[in-house]
Amino acid sequence: MMIDTHCHLDLVAKKKNLHQVLKEAKRAEVRAMIVPGINVNNWPEIEQLAHEHSDVYFALGFHPLFIEENCKQGAEQLLERIPLALASKKCVAIGECGLDFYFGREQESQQKMLLAEQVRIANQFQLPVILHCRKAHQDMISLLKQHRPLYGGVIHGFSGSYQQAMDYVMLGLKIGIGGVITYERARKTRTTIAALPLESLVLETDAPDMPLSGYQGQINEPKMVNMVLSSLIVLRNENEQTVTSQLWKNSKSTFNFCDIN
Ligand SMILES: [Zn+2]
Repeated sequence: MMIDTHCHLDLVAKKKNLHQVLKEAKRAEVRAMIVPGINVNNWPEIEQLAHEHSDVYFALGFHPLFIEENCKQGAEQLLERIPLALASKKCVAIGECGLDFYFGREQESQQKMLLAEQVRIANQFQLPVILHCRKAHQDMISLLKQHRPLYGGVIHGFSGSYQQAMDYVMLGLKIGIGGVITYERARKTRTTIAALPLESLVLETDAPDMPLSGYQGQINEPKMVNMVLSSLIVLRNENEQTVTSQLWKNSKSTFNFCDIN
């Protein structure tokens, strides 16, 4: 049994038959899927998805590449929306929020401000955070040391060094493992993941993006999380049952799922 802790089902639905995607996820023993918020525009859609499907959950937040012009206004919109979202019992985190300097640092200060705000809001509502980070691990780690997420969370789609991963683990965060580990050439990330404490790992697909090795050019979907798990088992050279049940526990406790077994 698995949880896909990060999949953009709202985007998958634009490319594939969602009914079929969810059926196949169920067949692959994916018991829950978490759909992250990108900005105010996708919030109603993902709330609706979670409302319609018992195994779909969501997070509310601002992706660093889609930050609002006015960060203050963004934080206010989030604060306004959360009580209602929490009442549905399907809102399980704040995110995805973070830093993304892939296209440069022009928005560095806005990104940092909005990330700090979102961590503050997550703490206020006792929620974990779903963190996105590209080309910014050092900035992210120092920001999180100052604005500590008190209720844990996940650094999603992790690829980086062992030291960076352990810095996140020391901050109480889980490391989100996706399709990148299925690529032989991702040597650094594979070595890192193999060495991290098993208690610090959770699974994800980041569907519809991040296709697995051998599936390049195809639309990724939550059922593939079982192949990420298979890769992880091979990589860690540990008992299949041990890895599967520990990862199940990790994701359940991170997102406080009490209603699924
Ligand atoms: Zn994402």
